[in-house]
Amino acid sequence: MAKKISPRWADATLAIHGGEPRHGLNGPVTEPIVRSANFTFADTAEMKRWAEGKSKAYLYTRYGNPTLAVAEAKIAELENGEAALVTASGSAAISSALLSLLQTGDELIATRQLYGGSYRLMRDILPRMGVRVHHVAANLDGVDRLVNAKTRAFYVETPTNPTLGLVDLRKAVALARKHKLISLIDNTFATPILQKPLNLGFDLVLHSATKYLAGHSDIVCGAVAGSLERVRKVREMMISLGGSMDPDPAYLLIRGLKTLEIRVQRQCQSAMAVARFLEKHPKVERVHYPGLPSHPDHRLAKLQMTGFGGMLAFDMKGGLPAARRFCDRSKLFLLAASLGGVESLIVLPIYTSHHRMNKMELAAAGVKPGTIRMSVGLEDPGDLIADLKQALA
Ligand code: PLP
Repeated sequence: MAKKISPRWADATLAIHGGEPRHGLNGPVTEPIVRSANFTFADTAEMKRWAEGKSKAYLYTRYGNPTLAVAEAKIAELENGEAALVTASGSAAISSALLSLLQTGDELIATRQLYGGSYRLMRDILPRMGVRVHHVAANLDGVDRLVNAKTRAFYVETPTNPTLGLVDLRKAVALARKHKLISLIDNTFATPILQKPLNLGFDLVLHSATKYLAGHSDIVCGAVAGSLERVRKVREMMISLGGSMDPDPAYLLIRGLKTLEIRVQRQCQSAMAVARFLEKHPKVERVHYPGLPSHPDHRLAKLQMTGFGGMLAFDMKGGLPAARRFCDRSKLFLLAASLGGVESLIVLPIYTSHHRMNKMELAAAGVKPGTIRMSVGLEDPGDLIADLKQALA
């Protein structure tokens, strides 16, 4: 769905009004759910026009739907892209985007620290299709050396899951442009509130919208934003692969998006308070939070992000037994995968996002057996810290 740019509006306003049609008398304030799999044509002339690509009429919800279109327009406005696409999951967004670009014989360069599912797609699935994947460290050293005539795309994720390392966005775009690669970024952790990669020159922005965009841990969904042409190609691939979103979750995505800005701001504040508390705790070996001056990418975070996010990780001094003890004693934090919702969550990445990875892969991802990943929610930060205190006692 093409976006209607509203440059005069700030993110908080865009999140509420962006992409929403304005109705006259008796118009609904909230977007109706068009719960229909298919759409009627007035006559065969309309049908013929659709078949010839001359009509934007809706045909079938896998191709597009009015409720999905509003979610897409809102995300396009927030990411400042010409267009956006919503999908059944973040994984559908990522696989559809990559498969829209890559074919047998092509090569992809990606950073090594990625969401486990994205890493496994690149490790297990793309090579089976004849696509060679090279990984580079977050500092992007070695890209120049790896690029060859077959290299087609460059994929990064920042901040990274789970240890919150940063990739320099400007450097990534400069490398992609220098070598004429299509650049993709997984913007799930930062959200468009904290960084807008399309403004810096990225070609495609990907999201697990399940997380912050939807924000309430009640739906699984994904999104892609970029130019009209690139998003059109991703849509074509998504239509073929079948990773389309249904209208009901699209409604919940729209509703969640309305509070995105205020949720993210509050989560940044609370995460900072939690990170500061953990950093001083004698049982904690190391806290990974880009907002802390001790974080190796703190300066870069200040340069390219407008806030440090609601995600953090920390390593327990006693390794896995200490990490398990902490998780089992916590009363307020829920022991659950995923992130970006209103409730604060903790997980052990070795048992969740980074399961089925060998020791070398875990080390490359910065994941230790005693690493705990935390998604800071919207609870009172004093209550969160009180729970941390008792769980660590
Ligand atoms: N990207 C990141 C950074 C994630 O954390 C996740 C899921 O945890 C995904 C992508 C995959 O998204 P989904 O679970 O919506 O398919």
